Amino acid sequence: MQCQPDYRDILDHLADGVYFVDTQRVISYWNRGAEALTGYAASEVIGRPCHDNILTHCTSDGVCLCRAGCPLAATIQDGATREALVYLRHRDGHRVPVMVRAAPLHDTSGQIVGAVESFSDATRLHEAERQAERSRKLSLLDPLTKMANRRALEGAIASRLAECAVVGGHVGLIIVDIDHFKQINDRLGHEVGDRVIRMVAMSMRSTTRRGDVVGRWGGDELAAVLEQVTQCDLEMLAGRMRIMVEHSFIDPGGADPKSLHATISLGLAISGPSPTSAAELFRHADESLYAAKRAGRNRIGCCAATAA
Ligand code: GH3
Ligand code: MG
Repeated sequence: MQCQPDYRDILDHLADGVYFVDTQRVISYWNRGAEALTGYAASEVIGRPCHDNILTHCTSDGVCLCRAGCPLAATIQDGATREALVYLRHRDGHRVPVMVRAAPLHDTSGQIVGAVESFSDATRLHEAERQAERSRKLSLLDPLTKMANRRALEGAIASRLAECAVVGGHVGLIIVDIDHFKQINDRLGHEVGDRVIRMVAMSMRSTTRRGDVVGRWGGDELAAVLEQVTQCDLEMLAGRMRIMVEHSFIDPGGADPKSLHATISLGLAISGPSPTSAAELFRHADESLYAAKRAGRNRIGCCAATAA
């Protein structure tokens, strides 16, 4: 006889939070991901209604969704799935941005008997949105990637360097250039080329940390400004970026059904212990990038620390 895995066991291995409620929104299941993201153990919440002062979801404007506007209540009412960025209340009191998805639960006759909510930590997304909003306001946004443009990147380098002059530490700069990008444009058109630029930018951003800024330097060149890094961190992040991009691909559409991969060459620089200018940091990263191209592409040029 074939053994069926227990679905609760499977749900407990997800990093996302998952919980079930009945039609009165009484919680009947709470996975380990939910425990980790909220600080509440399953034993503290099972049997209680989710609007019983537990997570008290609210919007970015501070509107509490528990009494009016609860995505789970609406889903129980109309059976539609919903997705929203909300702020839950952690057991320790602070707010955590989460992307919640609510879906109805049916019995065998098709009757709605409750709902399931899954939620994931949106801190990174939230940070990226805030960064984008800030950039948009100051017209520092690259229209193609919706990330920082060159001016914003230069501003980020200057402000991080000024910070290091006061508190110490190092600023890292990674300049990325897409390999043989002209061939992609020529073979598949400018629009596909644009999608490749966006794909590379998104893959780069997925490897960076909060506080780092990723953006478009110009053309097929992108950049990441990394705060408080060591040379070792910088090389590790760049290595991860290279691999992430190598494993990303798009469907170019049209007659050619093959997935389209791209590779990147990366130039690195890190600020030295004595004051470093943004221009100097860029010059070193550019030299490192040029070395990576000369050495055969799809690689990282050696990392130069600016003058001591
Ligand atoms: P290499 O490996 O040496 O980098 O070769 P490459 O073909 O990528 O050469 P290069 O980096 O000099 O090519 C940049 C190309 O990017 C040239 C230009 O036509 C194209 N390009 C610049 N801006 C855009 C854009 O906004 N969209 C698209 N699709 N292409 C752009
Ligand atoms: Mg290129």
